[in-house]
Amino acid sequence: MDSTPSRPLHSLDPYVDRYAARTAGMTASEIRALFAVASRPEVVSLAGGMPNISGLPLDVVGRAIGDLVAHHGPEAMQYGSGQGVPALREQITEVMRLEGIEAHPDDVVVTVGSQQAVDLVTRVFCDPGDVVICEAPSYVGALGVFKAYQCDVVHAEMDADGLVPEALRQAIAATRAAGKRIKFVYTIPNFHNPAGVTLSVARRAEILDICRSEDILVLEDNPYGLLGFDGEPLRALRADEPDKVVYLGSFSKTFAPGFRVGWALAPHTVREKLVLAQESATLCPPQFSQMAVSAYLASHDWQGQIKQFREMYRERRDAMVDALHDLMPAACRWNVPDGGFYVWLTLPPGVDAKAMLPRAVTARVAYVPGTAFFSDGFGSSAMRLSYCYPTPERIREGVRRLAGVIEAEMELRATFDAYAPARELGPRGYDGPSSDLS
Ligand code: PMP
Repeated sequence: MDSTPSRPLHSLDPYVDRYAARTAGMTASEIRALFAVASRPEVVSLAGGMPNISGLPLDVVGRAIGDLVAHHGPEAMQYGSGQGVPALREQITEVMRLEGIEAHPDDVVVTVGSQQAVDLVTRVFCDPGDVVICEAPSYVGALGVFKAYQCDVVHAEMDADGLVPEALRQAIAATRAAGKRIKFVYTIPNFHNPAGVTLSVARRAEILDICRSEDILVLEDNPYGLLGFDGEPLRALRADEPDKVVYLGSFSKTFAPGFRVGWALAPHTVREKLVLAQESATLCPPQFSQMAVSAYLASHDWQGQIKQFREMYRERRDAMVDALHDLMPAACRWNVPDGGFYVWLTLPPGVDAKAMLPRAVTARVAYVPGTAFFSDGFGSSAMRLSYCYPTPERIREGVRRLAGVIEAEMELRATFDAYAPARELGPRGYDGPSSDLS
């Protein structure tokens, strides 16, 4: 008898039966194809989370990079330390001080964006089947990492004040009752992607208390923390719990994502493991990028630049919430973010964000359906809208188009519902065309 496993006849990939099991979790987003259309100039994209860096002083950046090549070229183009450039790690501790973190540069590991930091932390902690507790909804890029390492994601609810402590308690209890191991709680406390909410000060202490008493590590992902619209940056969770929090930061939103420089700040023993993981992943993070970021920080008023970014994003946030207020059907709900890039919009009952997306793109507006931000299929009644990239005028136009699509969808739904009782009666109760077509 032939014991060769049979290959699906329809597969065009000759390697299909050789891939590792973990690739089953590496699936292309169903909405990727639509995004190719969404990036056409006539479409207002409220979908992407690209930072708007048109205000960066390119002359300053150019000079810093020119000097870097002229004075430190061979070093900048050489391999470097797996942990990252010491001068940059020192500067990173200054950045984190703005959020109340007192840290030693030795505990910082530079990564290829904070995305790689999520990957390294998961690589170091998670075996297949281990549980990561995430907010509901959560950052799609982190969910992709957790899936790729075959973790089980358990979602815990959020409200307007961020992660709900009772929901976290319940998620921990239910996971443990099911006999599963929780490796960490992944949280985005500030200006959440995608929910736009911020964890309240009172809740910060409570979430830390829960994790401390349950002996669970916290992975605090904070790329937007310095992009608040009002007042001082909030105190990081890591500032009050150095031994039980791995903190992730990034220069993608406060400077530019193209350098791909982020970092992890971890307790000493974890840091050792992260450096080993970094060495096996990349040998070292790119020396040139790190030195360029370091030169920019040293030669420019980077805090003044962040202030400019904040003002620009605030204007765009205002444009979006004003447009939503003026144009959206009354049954829609949304939050008003205090910083960051995103608004989370909940649709009227019965309207499905994923099903509606092709019609929205036809109407020349794009968004990300809520389902992208859940590991379990939830979220179809919501969507993420980003205001970071388009101009205020385009944002308003995008919201106007979207409101039209939602209204049409609601009308369709109402027509459908009007027939629903009749449908339940079966063909004979249906007062439409005869079903007797035979
Ligand atoms: N975490 C969150 C919450 C994000 O929104 C992003 C980028 N959109 C990242 C991590 C990754 O950012 P980067 O790798 O550019 O630092």
